[in-house]
Amino acid sequence: MATCGLLFAQLFTHCLHNMAKRKGTPFLRGRRKCIFCGGFGVNKEHVFGKWLKPYFPRDEHSTHTFGTVGPSAIWGIPKIKENVRQGHVGTSKVKVACKNCNGGWLGTMEETVKPILIPLFTCERTNLSPEHQKILATWVSKTAMTSEYANPREDGISQEEREWLMNKLEPPPHWVVWIANYSGGDWSELGAIQNRGNLQASPISGPNVIKYYVHATTFGMGRVVFLVVGSTWEAIPEIFGGLEGRGMLRLWPPIPRSILWPPFEAVGDPQVNAMANILTESGRFDNSLNPLAKWTYAM
Ligand SMILES: [Zn+2]
Repeated sequence: MATCGLLFAQLFTHCLHNMAKRKGTPFLRGRRKCIFCGGFGVNKEHVFGKWLKPYFPRDEHSTHTFGTVGPSAIWGIPKIKENVRQGHVGTSKVKVACKNCNGGWLGTMEETVKPILIPLFTCERTNLSPEHQKILATWVSKTAMTSEYANPREDGISQEEREWLMNKLEPPPHWVVWIANYSGGDWSELGAIQNRGNLQASPISGPNVIKYYVHATTFGMGRVVFLVVGSTWEAIPEIFGGLEGRGMLRLWPPIPRSILWPPFEAVGDPQVNAMANILTESGRFDNSLNPLAKWTYAM
């Protein structure tokens, strides 16, 4: 039996005082709208396109583990819940995009990314031009947006960000996308973790609370792994700078250089696991970021 380890998991950390208020999202009932254009006629789609099936074979005995990390009675210590679901993680479906989007720009994007993506996960020699890096970063960002709806409890991505990607065919402002050559095993079968929520800034000078969306999505495909961190808060790229030293190569915002694949350095499971928790690393959003505001990170 193929068990895909800690695969399509989503990670939530909640502020305890927020938990009592949380109920189902009304949006999910009734007719669904396309998360990109707002149109009707939304179909169930695979998070990872069906064309990937020959590369990531699945059978009727496959299972994947869906995990959430929530608050425990003791503040700061997450409680991990996991349940095993039937089907390979590649069969996970979400109701997100309308026929017009799927048959239009989303379909075109999928076709365009195929020849760029395949040599990355099969680890064949290739050269990623700046144009290829942009196409790839946009596809990775789109995948983060659609995978949010595998468990749409909390928003980590705003409507404006989705519209930006649809209209400009590039990642939204303050999004950063990295790629790494992957040598481990836990993430190779389309393993994905999304860690998302909102950041709240309470200016010390006034009562207004400013809410920002934030998410970090990590997923692996064969010999490649991607990390995308996105936010409506402009300081995010600066906070998450410096990852390049950990075997990660930045795809977005663009750097005018080609990437020779496979790169010299590869990352293993411990590095990818750390990457998946990047948003909740202690001290990441502490008050030293902006002495004029009190920050809380709530999901
Ligand atoms: Zn649409």
